[in-house]
Amino acid sequence: MKLDTQLIAALGLGKYLQGEQWASAIINGEAVFDNGPAKPLRSPIDHASLGQYVNAPAAITEQAIKEAHAAFLKWRTVPAPRRGELVRLIGEKVRAKKKELAQVITLEAGKIVAEAEGEVQEWIDICDFAVGLSRQLHGLTIVSERPEHRMMEQWHPLGTVGVITAFNFPQAVWAWNAMLAFVCGDPVVWKPSEKAPLCALAIQSVVDEVIAEFDGAPRSLSQIVIGEVETGKQLAESPLVPLVSATGSVRMGKAVAATVGGRLGRSLLELGGNNAMIVTETANLELALRAIVFAAAGTAGQRCTTLRRLIVQESVVDQLLPRIAKAYETLPIGDPRESGKLVGPLIDEPSFRAQQQALADAKAQGGEVVFGGERVTAGVPANGFYVRPAIVRVNGNLPVVCHETFAPILYVMTYKTLDEAMALQNGVPQGLSSAIFTDRMQEAERFVSPAGSDCGIANVNIGTSGAEIGGAFGGEKETGGGRESGSDSWKNYMRRTTNTVNYGNALPLAQGIKFDV
Ligand code: NAD
Repeated sequence: MKLDTQLIAALGLGKYLQGEQWASAIINGEAVFDNGPAKPLRSPIDHASLGQYVNAPAAITEQAIKEAHAAFLKWRTVPAPRRGELVRLIGEKVRAKKKELAQVITLEAGKIVAEAEGEVQEWIDICDFAVGLSRQLHGLTIVSERPEHRMMEQWHPLGTVGVITAFNFPQAVWAWNAMLAFVCGDPVVWKPSEKAPLCALAIQSVVDEVIAEFDGAPRSLSQIVIGEVETGKQLAESPLVPLVSATGSVRMGKAVAATVGGRLGRSLLELGGNNAMIVTETANLELALRAIVFAAAGTAGQRCTTLRRLIVQESVVDQLLPRIAKAYETLPIGDPRESGKLVGPLIDEPSFRAQQQALADAKAQGGEVVFGGERVTAGVPANGFYVRPAIVRVNGNLPVVCHETFAPILYVMTYKTLDEAMALQNGVPQGLSSAIFTDRMQEAERFVSPAGSDCGIANVNIGTSGAEIGGAFGGEKETGGGRESGSDSWKNYMRRTTNTVNYGNALPLAQGIKFDV
């Protein structure tokens, strides 16, 4: 196994490892090993072995859920500011281990060091946000129509939150959910992506140290179950999991929504995007260029907010396109651990095949690949799937453009009028992130207006990716409608009660109804 022993020691991962096999679950802080079929875990950087994992059997997952529920019954009565103190201590620990946690992201998901550290920073930021929030979980006081009555709202803990995550944000997405869940009074059972279980174990090691030392925190507040589709389904089915927060493909979201909806549970869905940027004739092309290259090629096109569609006013396309191609020519592609590299590998071979298929489909549908798209084998570690980010000229939203290919392919199309650009921008099934580059106030305001972008994120003179944690994050249509992270997303993790209090000696009924007995 090619995992640095120093890294294992620094993160305290040894307790989750037997030989080359990683734990299948962490329940009440204890590693659970299973002797089911072992599956290899490989780094996308060079296919080096990172050990093996074994899916948690159903009985183990059930136990994790039951123990989390027991934690809920205790944690819900701990005052919220005290719950915030736990999250504050977690934040301190994460600050101290930032580099090591980021190294695991790079090894497992192939992110360049700067982006991996940025992902851990998101965890630190959401800790700070959640600590402040722990003193602000407030409801309204509402006047009553009845004399000597008062109405109020309270927000109470909801119960166990089941978190299902994708491979491409193997730490931050859990943190967005878990840090809010903990201050809201909810335990978390996490099923990480089967492509990134080590990130989950590394996180658990850090979090469990804090929980174990914290007076009043049940050890089963944070549980991990390693598994694939079946484990995710089990979380979706369990009535002991009132909220399932699932991040991943539209296909996965549809399955989870149907299962959770079937038992009338709550789901929070963060699914695929198909993000567009409109570049108008007044845009500052220098700014636009930088935003385009980071959003389209960064993270090797494997962000839910990656820029996939560029909608350019026809009068500026001939100035802009050659500059993007020139910037792409000099993008350093290779081992994400090396400083200076900006584009790392795709996650695996199926992802590479999907990228190649999309390019072939684009050509068959009339598109023209004007730059890149090929596999890079020189100057990169052997066995990894490295590709040169592609630029494809298309005429409008071709069928291939309407679905998300999780790879660095930028489709470029032109428009004449802003109406046409808006129709292209909104004319796909997904609705996550969008942007306009313009120096005209009317265009900018129209883009963010009710008749503008139909996405959950609509930016002006900023790219589609790299959101801050302070805002609510998520999207509409097939992106699933969920909101995580900042603003009032915390309300997803709590249940609201409306309380009417009668402090008089009569019992008047609402709406003036008379029912005297
Ligand atoms: P994926 O859908 O293959 O897997 C995501 C997770 O869902 C994994 O943990 C997987 O085991 C689980 N899963 C799959 N099918 C399931 C089912 N039927 N029931 C329960 N669980 C199931 O996605 P991926 O390839 O890991 O990630 C890439 C996708 O995630 C892209 O579509 C990307 O846009 C999306 N994503 C969205 C956001 C967002 O916030 N909107 C963030 C990150 C990634």
